Amino acid sequence: MDYFEQFRVKPDSKVKLEKIDAGFKNTHISAKSARKETEEQVEKMRELQYLMYAEGKRSLLICLQGRDAAGKDGTINHVLWAMNPQGCKVQGFKVPSAEEAAHDFLWRYHKSVPSKGQVTIFNRSHYEDVLVVRVHNLVPKSVWSKRYEQINNFEKMLTDNGTHILKFYLHIDADEQLERFKARIDDPTKHWKISDSDYSERPHWDEYTKAFENMLRKCSTDYAPWFVIPSNHKWFRNLAISHIINTSLESLKMKFPEPKVDINEIRSRYHEIVNRENGN
Ligand code: ADP
Repeated sequence: MDYFEQFRVKPDSKVKLEKIDAGFKNTHISAKSARKETEEQVEKMRELQYLMYAEGKRSLLICLQGRDAAGKDGTINHVLWAMNPQGCKVQGFKVPSAEEAAHDFLWRYHKSVPSKGQVTIFNRSHYEDVLVVRVHNLVPKSVWSKRYEQINNFEKMLTDNGTHILKFYLHIDADEQLERFKARIDDPTKHWKISDSDYSERPHWDEYTKAFENMLRKCSTDYAPWFVIPSNHKWFRNLAISHIINTSLESLKMKFPEPKVDINEIRSRYHEIVNRENGN
């Protein structure tokens, strides 16, 4: 299966989230049956990130959005597990601080985009400004409705400057969210994850659906695509996301940089040292 094309939102296409099966798992029946394929993808991701780090020319920005308990943290664990921490960073976004709110809405995001050779994962992203902000009327419609185009322009500028962008919407259904809320209540080690907003946002389910669908339709572009990832099964979500990251990084045709030294000369100097130290 071509995961990249299967889950990519085609530019300007209407997405109906309720028609997309959040429990989809392709031909796999369980986490166990997908383990080998996932491990292979993780290994490939490790190699590609190493190459990106070594090449030092391009960067990768991964944006994660989803409803509460959709699995943003779990996805980050999975992706980071594959990567060298020196070349990878996670940036979360909460309610803007006074300083952030005093700037244009993209300011705080722009400050955190990856530098060349680096991967950055946005745990929530600039899309909050057309999601929570829209659902709760934190700014008037005349302001948020212009943001789709502003976001597209921002992302175009980033990609033109070597930042590769992948955006994942983690799609869970309403039953799965309730089950995950329950699991959090039942497990004392997960109590810290429970937030008041999980419960206050749930009644706005349909308004969020509309906001997500608009975001997907208006901001999935050829240069910065959105992917709707079926995420009821965490293992399938991880598998699909690793495939997509790999397909995408492979398309960059990255290359190791030329050595800064003459390798033949260095090799003979190495042998000289070995011979001298062995008394030859
Ligand atoms: P998380 O759920 O990401 O683990 P929190 O529970 O602290 O972390 O949630 C962060 C909160 O910040 C969310 O409710 C989110 O909607 C809110 N938030 C993020 N960005 C913005 C924004 N631009 N404007 C208003 N609220 C925002």
